Amino acid sequence: DLHPVRRALLSVSDKTGLVDLGQALAARGVELLSTGGSAKTLREAGLTVRDVAEVTGFPEMMDGRVKTLHPMVHGGLLALRDNDAHVAAMEEHKIGGIDLLVVNLYPFEAALARGAGYDEMIENIDIGGPAMIRAAAKNHAFVTTVVDVEDYDALLAELEANDGQTSYAFRQRFAQTAYARTAAYDAAVSTWMAGAIGENTPRRRAFAGQLAQTMRYGENPHQNAAFYTDGSGRPGVATAVQHQGKELSYNNINDTDAAFELVAEFDPADGPACAIIKHANPCGVARGATLLEAYQKAFDCDRTSAFGGIVALNMELDEETAQAITGIFTEVVIAPAATDAAKAVFAAKKNLRLLTTEGLPNPTSGGVAFKQVAGGILVQDRDNGHVPVEDLKTATKRAPTADEMGDLRFAWTVAKHVKSNAIVYVKDGATVGIGAGQMSRLDSALIAAKKAERMAEALGLPEPLTKGSAVASDAFFPFADGLMEAVAAGATTVIQPGGSMRDDEVIAAADEAGLAMVFTGMRHFRH
Ligand code: 5GP
Repeated sequence: DLHPVRRALLSVSDKTGLVDLGQALAARGVELLSTGGSAKTLREAGLTVRDVAEVTGFPEMMDGRVKTLHPMVHGGLLALRDNDAHVAAMEEHKIGGIDLLVVNLYPFEAALARGAGYDEMIENIDIGGPAMIRAAAKNHAFVTTVVDVEDYDALLAELEANDGQTSYAFRQRFAQTAYARTAAYDAAVSTWMAGAIGENTPRRRAFAGQLAQTMRYGENPHQNAAFYTDGSGRPGVATAVQHQGKELSYNNINDTDAAFELVAEFDPADGPACAIIKHANPCGVARGATLLEAYQKAFDCDRTSAFGGIVALNMELDEETAQAITGIFTEVVIAPAATDAAKAVFAAKKNLRLLTTEGLPNPTSGGVAFKQVAGGILVQDRDNGHVPVEDLKTATKRAPTADEMGDLRFAWTVAKHVKSNAIVYVKDGATVGIGAGQMSRLDSALIAAKKAERMAEALGLPEPLTKGSAVASDAFFPFADGLMEAVAAGATTVIQPGGSMRDDEVIAAADEAGLAMVFTGMRHFRH
């Protein structure tokens, strides 16, 4: 199953490593064919190269749109060398076999990342490259396909080990990689076009991703894992600069994303905000007059759980806040920026990772979210739902005061980022009790209140901060019992979607307890 490499076609946009590869191949006596720019680079290094234009009998034309799209090339890639009719066709048309194809595509993803305009994006759609890759990969029984600069060394090692030949297993593996590349490439084109024409429904969407990192393991040590960027350039963990600390793990990336998407809900123009996350759920979120105060108030919601957590900030990390964060072990800190003094504080903490992003993700931006099920993938719009304050409807006799309304809206925003069933108690711009991920809403309310009691004891407070708090529920209270649990914990005002069959019962219980309750008309399940 070994097949010799006698003739190679090299056509690459990224010329990195091209000359070294060309030299190594030439040293093995491999004949080199190449397209315009690649041929020029090889020739300038003193190599003998044949132009594809000479092979096809056609010049490269139409700004390079048509270079290699010709039977002299595709016949050479696709012909089965052990098929008499194929071999006869090659002889009849003087088609030389191509044993090795080295292509990397027009940098469509790079053009996307730098925000190129529509026409420039169109010109960056490679046509001949993917056509050749798909042809060569299909014919992996005989042809070796390399689509990544990173794989040149592996190719040369294979040729070295097999006296100028490649094994079937090698060609097969590289063919598989080649199709992954063309699939991701076309998905990137399709996803870009969806954005460009405003086609935002999850229907007829391809899934684009570029491998950014392979990890030692996934959610657990027995699971392999990798991280792909979607090319959207959305500020966040995928595009962040890491200043220090070891590589992020699968769980770190997941949690850091949850933290940053949450804190991004708080416009820095309205003041500093901080979110601390554990296992993708917040264990404290707060605003403050200063960033330091926001961090401290977030920390005071659940000091125990914050240990080993992820801290996200909605504005530049300063020295004082950095100092406070180092008070306990923290895995990751993510912020739009960090002052030099703040970086200096962290420098001594080897296990702490600092990420900066130069911006916040826009919580209202569109996009799709995926979830895997056995035998399929569920796709939906990302939850960018937002209820403007004028759409909030008071359901009770008593309407919330302006202060209460501030806390209600804060609680509602946090609840959107808590796994269902979510119950969030808020007081003075800080969460004071969060109940997440319970199968019953009542249990989430109980757990949140219990945690608030524990914190009051730890902080030496006379009573839990849930006394006089605002409470949010991510979906309606199906019965009055969950609401009554919140009342027992001391909540005086409530925000929830409304819309339960028993809304009348729930509203009556709220009125009875003197609560001010508003309905959002929108729910934020998060599973
Ligand atoms: P070069 O820099 O060698 O002139 O061009 C290399 C690039 O051209 C590679 O990215 C390759 O995928 C692409 N390419 C090769 N043949 C064709 C073709 O026929 N049409 C188009 N649009 N691109 C091609």
